[in-house]
Parts: sequence; C-alpha cells; structure tokens
Amino acid sequence: MQDTVKATCAVCGRTNRLPAARLSARPKCGACGAALADGTVAVLDLTTHDKATRSDEVALVVDYWAPWCGPCRMMAPEFARAAKAMAPRVRFAKIDTQDYPRVSQDLGIRGIPLLILWHKGKEVARLAGAHPAGEIEAFVRGTLATKT
Ligand code: ZN
Repeated sequence: MQDTVKATCAVCGRTNRLPAARLSARPKCGACGAALADGTVAVLDLTTHDKATRSDEVALVVDYWAPWCGPCRMMAPEFARAAKAMAPRVRFAKIDTQDYPRVSQDLGIRGIPLLILWHKGKEVARLAGAHPAGEIEAFVRGTLATKT
C-alpha cells in the first residue's frame, strides 16, 4: 500500500488523491491541470477554502488578508518566499477577507494579517500579525513537529 494524501485544487476545487511520494514531482490537478504543490501561493475562494481546510491531508497555511491592510501587503512577498522554501511538503494559500467576510465570521478572525495552519481537516495553530519569511517557516516547522 502506497501512502496517499488528499489535496484540493485551488483552481477548480477537485479533490486530488496523490501518492505522498509524488508530492515532490510537481503533481498537477487531474481535472484542470493546475499545479498542486509548486511553491506558489494559491488564491482561494470560499468554496475551495472550506474544502481544502476541511479535507486536505497536506499541511496548508492560509493567509487571511485584505487589500486595505498595509501590513498584509507588506507580508505578501515574505509569505511567497516561505511558500517556495517549504514546498512541496506544505502548501500555502491566501483568501481575501474583504471579498469573503464569512470566512472571518466563521473563524472568529478579529485582526489581519492572520495565518492559520491547517492539517487533516483541523486548525492546528494561528500566527497573528505580519512576519518575515524566516519566522513564518519557523512557525510552520515548529508547529508541525510538535502538534501533528
Ligand atoms: Zn483543478
């Protein structure tokens, strides 16, 4: 038996089941062909956010942000750098809380930027405020090492 993991495509929302070993081989979505773990920051909408956070078995860091938030915009390149550094073991994504205010309500988010680390359908940890790439990576690595 090969270990497989579920990963939601941020583009079309299809749940892909991948051999864990294939994560590093730049897997693509079986439905639309989008890259699933290429180290870029995926852009989520409500549907893909809810699906990915509830069912993905690959660790997922979501940046809850908004265009009016200066610190959010400042952190974006740092978040992208961390995404690249941690691929393919951890996937990175962001969701605009101005476009999708329901996500903030559902998760009780009062301040942004906020990062939430999700793993196997559960919220594992939160990191509030803007942080450089190194701190984001340390947060993710440290949390995965101790809590999953
Ligand atoms: Zn797809």
